[in-house]
Amino acid sequence: MSVHRLDVLIVGGGPAGLAAAIVFGRNDLSVMVCEREALPRDKACGEGIMPTGVEHLAQLDAIAHLDPRYVRNLAGIRFHSAGGHVATAHFREGHGLGVRRTNLSAALLAATRRWPAIEIRHAACVRRLKMTSGGVLVQIGDDAVQARLLVGADGLHSRVRRWAGLEGPPQRLRRLGARQHFAINPCEPYVDVIQGRGIEAYVTPCGEGQVGVAFLWDPTVYREAQGGDGLIRSLMAAFPELERRFASTARLSQPIAAGPLHHLARRRAADAVILIGDAGGYIDACTGEGISIALAQAMAIEPTVVPVLKRYLGVPSELSLIPYVQACRAITRPYRIGTTLQLYLCRHPWLANRVVRALEGERDLLAHLVSANMGRVPFWPGWRATSRLLRAVLSPRPKAE
Ligand SMILES: Cc1cc2nc3c(=O)[nH]c(=O)nc-3n(C[C@H](O)[C@H](O)[C@H](O)COP(=O)(O)OP(=O)(O)OC[C@H]3O[C@@H](n4cnc5c(N)ncnc54)[C@H](O)[C@@H]3O)c2cc1C
Repeated sequence: MSVHRLDVLIVGGGPAGLAAAIVFGRNDLSVMVCEREALPRDKACGEGIMPTGVEHLAQLDAIAHLDPRYVRNLAGIRFHSAGGHVATAHFREGHGLGVRRTNLSAALLAATRRWPAIEIRHAACVRRLKMTSGGVLVQIGDDAVQARLLVGADGLHSRVRRWAGLEGPPQRLRRLGARQHFAINPCEPYVDVIQGRGIEAYVTPCGEGQVGVAFLWDPTVYREAQGGDGLIRSLMAAFPELERRFASTARLSQPIAAGPLHHLARRRAADAVILIGDAGGYIDACTGEGISIALAQAMAIEPTVVPVLKRYLGVPSELSLIPYVQACRAITRPYRIGTTLQLYLCRHPWLANRVVRALEGERDLLAHLVSANMGRVPFWPGWRATSRLLRAVLSPRPKAE
């Protein structure tokens, strides 16, 4: 049987896989993306893309392919505490986007078509992989494909991560996510993050007259979630105001769930393998950074992995891929800090109520923290802002907590 030889094989056609394909393809490296579903593909997601992610979409030439009916500009994020306080952060870095996942998937797919070096295989689930001296050998349908580099872009439950021996230790955090779309008009250009007890709701305008409502919850704390058709109703029940608002509203999509969200990788590279996006490790979706991080990691391939494949015609060693691992570590560091802080507040709604109350009048500080989460400024806001925030958090006169 003949073997189809390539520079790069990407497993997974989500945002990470398609963005990585564009980067390899535009550098004239032959690349195949294997996606087990049909593309464009839907997925459980809050569908908010941070301004940094929007910049990367532009650099990948994908923005022009977005269908304007299923996208909305976002000016910032409104945090609603369980005690009724609301603090608004305006993005300093330009606008974000609320985008239906199918629209994002279609736009990235369209952007890949510009590069003849990219081949997309739909409904091609990669099941077995074998390491040979010439690279990774995979059977895809009737074809044997050998690639010098394998890219694991296969999401939270990555098979490539396991196959390459990069699986991290099992995690205690068992948070889950789900979403559905509702017809509603007019929508304000903000993501509303609403804190419940053991659960949060994320309402994102993502098209003409429609919002996506995503939920993230800890099933050990919020135990009311039901499976099947009752899932979204049982999650919405934690937010009486949302429940009222959406009671008689048409549903525009089927509910989709995902999780557990927390998965770690030991490293993001091994000989002939790199991991990207959720496959490389994920903590939680509470800061809405997953897509932006996946795109940033794809952009990081250009200065780190592309030169290795161009310079050397063999299989790249783990050592030669270290610059990519380091770049990814720098990209995800602010996300790890921001997500850990936010998860702490999710577990302590009384503290979250005080922090949101304190930030109500501190728009600059809140915008600073959102910028820090995107890696644009350090988290430390200075002594003066910190002491002001601490005084406000500790001061008595909270509303109902
Ligand atoms: C409820 C929820 C809300 C979220 N909200 C946001 C948000 O508002 N903003 C944000 O930026 N991020 C959000 N995220 C996170 C975001 O969805 C992910 O970080 C992002 O999708 C990661 O992209 P990816 O390409 O790494 O993985 P995925 O999008 O999961 O893509 C992986 C792809 O690999 C394919 N695949 C898997 N195994 C195989 C195989 N063996 N062979 C072939 N193909 C395979 C899958 O079919 C899939 O298409 C949210 C996540 C959840 C669960």
